[in-house]
Amino acid sequence: MDRCDVVIVGAGPAGLTLASELALAGVRALVIERLTEAEQAESDRTMGNRSVTVPSVRAFDRRGLLTELREASQRGFNVMAAGQPDDGPKLYQHFAFLFPRPELLDQAALGWPVLEGCFVQRADIRRLLAGRAREFGAQIRYGVEVTGLAADADGVTVEAGATVIRAGWLVGCDGAHSLVRTIAGFDFPGVEPEILFRQAAVDLADPDLLPVGWFTEPGVFGHVPLPSGVHMVFTGEFGAKTDDVSMTVAEMQESLRAASGTDVTVTRIHQFGKYTDVSRQSSTYRKGRIFLAGDAAHVHPPLGGQGMNLGIGDATNLGWKLAAAVRGDSPDGLLNTYTPERHPIGKWVQDWTRAQVALLRPDPRSRALREVMRELANTADGSTYLVEKVSGLWQLPMASGGHPLTGRTVPELAFADGSRLADHCHRGRGLLVDLIGHPALRETFRGYSDRIDTLTAKSENSGKLAGLLVRPDGVVAWAADRTVGPADLVAVQQALSTWWGDPRS
Ligand SMILES: Cc1cc2nc3c(=O)[nH]c(=O)nc-3n(C[C@H](O)[C@H](O)[C@H](O)COP(=O)(O)OP(=O)(O)OC[C@H]3O[C@@H](n4cnc5c(N)ncnc54)[C@H](O)[C@@H]3O)c2cc1C
Repeated sequence: MDRCDVVIVGAGPAGLTLASELALAGVRALVIERLTEAEQAESDRTMGNRSVTVPSVRAFDRRGLLTELREASQRGFNVMAAGQPDDGPKLYQHFAFLFPRPELLDQAALGWPVLEGCFVQRADIRRLLAGRAREFGAQIRYGVEVTGLAADADGVTVEAGATVIRAGWLVGCDGAHSLVRTIAGFDFPGVEPEILFRQAAVDLADPDLLPVGWFTEPGVFGHVPLPSGVHMVFTGEFGAKTDDVSMTVAEMQESLRAASGTDVTVTRIHQFGKYTDVSRQSSTYRKGRIFLAGDAAHVHPPLGGQGMNLGIGDATNLGWKLAAAVRGDSPDGLLNTYTPERHPIGKWVQDWTRAQVALLRPDPRSRALREVMRELANTADGSTYLVEKVSGLWQLPMASGGHPLTGRTVPELAFADGSRLADHCHRGRGLLVDLIGHPALRETFRGYSDRIDTLTAKSENSGKLAGLLVRPDGVVAWAADRTVGPADLVAVQQALSTWWGDPRS
């Protein structure tokens, strides 16, 4: 029997992010992936690009992967650019194929350069995350399928190929059809699909017949010529049969002709994918020693590119909490904060994508509503609102209290020595930023030096901030303005005990 601290089922973006967070914290993490690396690479070829939203960009940045992510983004191809004006910056996300207007954005209100989001090939995401997980010491076993699991009071037993694995904890990152979710008895309520999306890389006999961009009339369709010379085509058909996963040239052509109102001719399909707007979410992400993260916990249509980002967010939220439980220094109830912090964000994405499907419906009322939305999207407030949502900037994982930054993702601070706040987060520990050199504040942290790093530094863009305590997942646990008074010291003690437990001598 193999032994480890945490078994992760599935080496997708959620599983690999979790593995690297756990391994960074010194936890023995084992990832079991049923596909071989070659099979994963083949599946990555299909519909390969993913938009990376601000919270994920920040998560990569905090672990020192920003440069590699940006380089990978330059290799990715922003298929969404085709729907936007030729001049000016391009967004990576849309709302029911309505594109916010970058030139109208209120950047001060957004507070983060959202136009610097990324569009990265799935293969690159996996490569970066798997490389980092291995570098930190996680094991990844490819080509092994998990077929059974059972939990007891002390741990979990997992059947994986010919091996039985015993671990303290198990996380199902095994995607939309999660076996972990089924065996462990998690519910998965939601709505049935009403639209079938077909997407394919094709050769066209007469590409000029098909306009380039993303359209909702006469039907839902998209057409983007790719740098390789093939054409990415996309359709959405309401009321179509949604359980047939095969695709023929005739089917894609018929669907494209119907949606575009053209006589375009498809001569060859290189790759294709079919997906629906089914959307479901488990009502809890934890059952005892078993957790769900990523698509295993929530599925929704990929309108606006949120799913992978949600999974990365789940994993960064769970990683440090689970690591504390494994080490035995987790405060009471820490693991139980995972569902309340992540479920509302998943729920919001469900609603956000359902709203888009409603706007895509072909009936006259939905079309009229769409025109209202189009007008709103073309205003400064409308564009800023949409971008704040699709970029992930609105996400607030933790109920805030006290300082307005508490519960939010940490702002980007630049320090006098030229470093940025993210540079000080690479070790995956908590971080106290003391901006005024306050001896009593640093004294408070003495008993946490095994879990929290301390930085005393001056910053020019910190405004009136005097101090800041950041969780390993980049969420602000405490902050104070101008000075750190007695009430602030009490508040910081409370934050320490809530998120890190007792001090050590
Ligand atoms: C066309 C399309 C475009 C998209 N675009 C975007 C986008 O731009 N941005 C975005 O954020 N999201 C996007 N998404 C969604 C995104 O791809 C998913 O949300 C994301 O891949 C989910 O990651 P995951 O790690 O949770 O699951 P997955 O990526 O599904 O990984 C699960 C892994 O578990 C493995 N597995 C399953 N069962 C077992 C088992 N029993 N034993 C061992 N291994 C198992 C699988 O082989 C798989 O590798 C898009 C989706 C589609 C279909």
